[in-house]
Amino acid sequence: MTTAATCDPTTAREAPLLDVHALQIVFPAGTRADPSLEAYAVDGVSFTVARGESVCVVGESGCGKSLTALSLLRLVPPPGRIASGSRIVFDGDDILTLDRERLRAIRGQHMAMIFQEPMTALNPVLSVGEQIAEVLRVHTTLSRADRWARTVAMLTQVGIADAATRAKQYPHELSGGMRQRVMIAMALIMSPKLVIADEPTTALDVTIQAQILELLRDLRARTGMALLLITHDLGVVAEMASRVIVMYAGRVVEEAPVQALFAAPRHPYTKGLLAAIPRLGDDSDRLLTISGSVPPPTALPSGCAFRDRCPQAFARCATEEPALVSVGSAHRARCHLIDEPQRETAWAEAPRA
Ligand code: SF4
Repeated sequence: MTTAATCDPTTAREAPLLDVHALQIVFPAGTRADPSLEAYAVDGVSFTVARGESVCVVGESGCGKSLTALSLLRLVPPPGRIASGSRIVFDGDDILTLDRERLRAIRGQHMAMIFQEPMTALNPVLSVGEQIAEVLRVHTTLSRADRWARTVAMLTQVGIADAATRAKQYPHELSGGMRQRVMIAMALIMSPKLVIADEPTTALDVTIQAQILELLRDLRARTGMALLLITHDLGVVAEMASRVIVMYAGRVVEEAPVQALFAAPRHPYTKGLLAAIPRLGDDSDRLLTISGSVPPPTALPSGCAFRDRCPQAFARCATEEPALVSVGSAHRARCHLIDEPQRETAWAEAPRA
């Protein structure tokens, strides 16, 4: 792993903005027989985000992607905890060992988060302008008047018309789409190096979803910020990502540049997710779906965590956990079929009902 702590200045320049290594998030799962039992909701997750890069983390709910996002700002809700041995390095700072003051400086200033439901993330008793200006009060020495001017300018930048008036309104006076624009304005007001957006459009209707994604794309192009987008929607991934990380049951099961993932997915879970995307002109009356649901971390099957749902599972999958291995340029996948390609071919050629 390369980090900005390296002395060589060339290497330091090339170090990723975010480097997550062997991340484990643990929850107590004690029983009467064994109160000390723990469950791993995220287990051994490693990935990087380069400066200015747009990376999507994709998977169904319960796969650990939101917890992974929260851990980057040390916001894992108790009683969950990040296990020792995990490492999160952001722009040269070791997030997991930072003191509170430095962590507070990084949150909001250099690394900001946009949540799924702005109504719960915004304070209902403060105007939206006051809430954005508060970020400037904490992190800058700007005067009150300058903070307000910057706030109104930022609201204009995220596409809010008549921003000076809107800034004085309370969250409940704005539409869902406008509230999400306010959250984006609040996240971007300090020009952070990394924005983490956790399902930022899930609570919005389809037209507004498209507008918000377009806004994020446009702001990223203009500001050069890196974006880590958490989503269950591979349609969003195609629009937004340069690189994709697919998670299942707390593990990374595939990681690839977006074109490679869509053109040649290697993990059966990724293939299932892709097959479930609705396509124009497809006249079949139902979507292909992956049967079953993500198992809780307390009830993972032996061997491969995807085994119970995998149409290609074979005996080895029950006894041995697959490793994440390279399958191409910047492309990794976690499946036993990778070193048993003859099974993959036989399955692909077998007739199905
Ligand atoms: Fe399916 Fe086996 Fe691959 Fe797991 S290791 S995804 S069960 S084929």
